[in-house]
Amino acid sequence: MLSLLRLLLPRACPGCGGQLGPHSGLCAACSQNLRARVEWHSPLCAQPAPHLVSLGPYRGVVRRSICALKYSGARELARPLGQALAAGVPSDWRIAGVIPVPLHSRRERERGYNQAALLAQVVADCCGVPCCPAGLRRHRATAQQAKQQVAERAANLQGAFGIGQALPGGTLLLLDDVLTTGETLLACRDALHAAGYTDLKYAVLAR
Ligand SMILES: [Zn+2]
Repeated sequence: MLSLLRLLLPRACPGCGGQLGPHSGLCAACSQNLRARVEWHSPLCAQPAPHLVSLGPYRGVVRRSICALKYSGARELARPLGQALAAGVPSDWRIAGVIPVPLHSRRERERGYNQAALLAQVVADCCGVPCCPAGLRRHRATAQQAKQQVAERAANLQGAFGIGQALPGGTLLLLDDVLTTGETLLACRDALHAAGYTDLKYAVLAR
């Protein structure tokens, strides 16, 4: 129903509120202002090194777009956001596949989709590599993270992920929507490392 209304009503750009016209997703100005960057410092990497691509801080057009993608059913935003992110993936990383952080199946059913999987598919298409949406599995639902302390969060995530399908050899790009403390991506990294996939890079829309 929500998606039908979205088709019928004149749509505003989720980034700036301006009229979208015949476009879907973001207006041209907002799309052009999305700039991916390679980051050297994050909780995901102990030493300074290029390991993470993002569209920058969680604010402005990026924040509003992520909120629309996650909470307002605007799955069409995965394309412009994913394309902008893919443009920042250095070719010398030689990514062999893209893996989205899985949502628990109950939460995915509630939302109807996993936004990280939509983004991962776009990034994989742009990079010309396979997307592996079943590469990681979420064993159990984790409590809503925003309500927890850091230590509780880490304990909550331990063992939450496991390997699903076999993954391509080489460098894998692990993708999530937002990086906050990094615990979710670190828990995914631990699961991949335990299965012998040790060559990882990361992509997030914002942090
Ligand atoms: Zn706009």
